[in-house]
Amino acid sequence: MENILRIAVQKSGRLSDDSLSLIKECGIKFYNGTGKLKSSATNFPLEFLFLRDDDIPGYVADGVADLGIVGENELVEKNKDVVVLKKLGFSKCRLSLAIPKSETYTGLSFFQGKNIATSYPKILGDYLKEKAIQADIHEISGSVEIAPSIGLAEAICDIVSSGSTLMMNGLKEVEEIFRSEAALIGHPLMNQQKKHLVEKLLFRMNAVQKGKSSKYVLLNAPNHALDKIVSLIPGMRSPTILPLAQEGWSSVHSVLSEEQFWENIEELRAAGAEGILVVPIEKMIL
Ligand code: ATP
Ligand code: MG
Repeated sequence: MENILRIAVQKSGRLSDDSLSLIKECGIKFYNGTGKLKSSATNFPLEFLFLRDDDIPGYVADGVADLGIVGENELVEKNKDVVVLKKLGFSKCRLSLAIPKSETYTGLSFFQGKNIATSYPKILGDYLKEKAIQADIHEISGSVEIAPSIGLAEAICDIVSSGSTLMMNGLKEVEEIFRSEAALIGHPLMNQQKKHLVEKLLFRMNAVQKGKSSKYVLLNAPNHALDKIVSLIPGMRSPTILPLAQEGWSSVHSVLSEEQFWENIEELRAAGAEGILVVPIEKMIL
């Protein structure tokens, strides 16, 4: 029992699929039948607890779970004693202040003395304090965006991704106060065996994440252009160069970030590169 890690993941919602995919991509196999609250991996000492995201920071702080995957918004709001082990790059969203469309926005002083509905009283309270704005925070747990239209508040502070929910409720976003993405969190104290398992898991997650942001690029180039082309796609250590059957030509293989590839594509073609293939990488270990 001691040597099994327990990870808390969201049972169902905007974090669930990506959290479980990441663990699967780390080569960890498990069954997650719908409605189950617990499950175990079959090839890694890992046990899953499926919870509401609100409860994840607390369970990890209390040590009921060793690890958890949760949005930074919930993490900061709950303010529990946990360690952020890794930002995961998914479930990106922002927490913003929004007001009725018909109002003229005059800057942060607009909120002075106003009543603001939110599910994030701590994050909002800290923000307003820092900006020296006095407002009444009205905490509600859901459907925050309807608060102004039913007369419950004059403004709201809520999660926004596309802004369409705000628009449907006659609101406009006026200030972004917090940016969030999913994070892997851990209990601050773990025994050596657990620490070792966490290291193993992090190593795999890093390999998956690195692979996702990189591409394997293959191209053909005339030999006289090789120096130029190699300088454009330097790769991990240096590119592989193989002769083609056709005299005077080589095949160049390299690994680079997708961004770097797009930045250099015109120069590569101008230098004479052709037959360019860009291939996804599943895992990458440096
Ligand atoms: P639960 O029932 O587990 O309490 P919930 O309704 O509180 O779920 P979700 O809507 O599933 O939460 O969102 C979970 C987390 O995903 C949010 O706390 C936030 O970090 C992130 N998130 C929320 N909305 C979006 C969005 N539109 N796009 C991407 N990520 C989002
Ligand atoms: Mg929740």
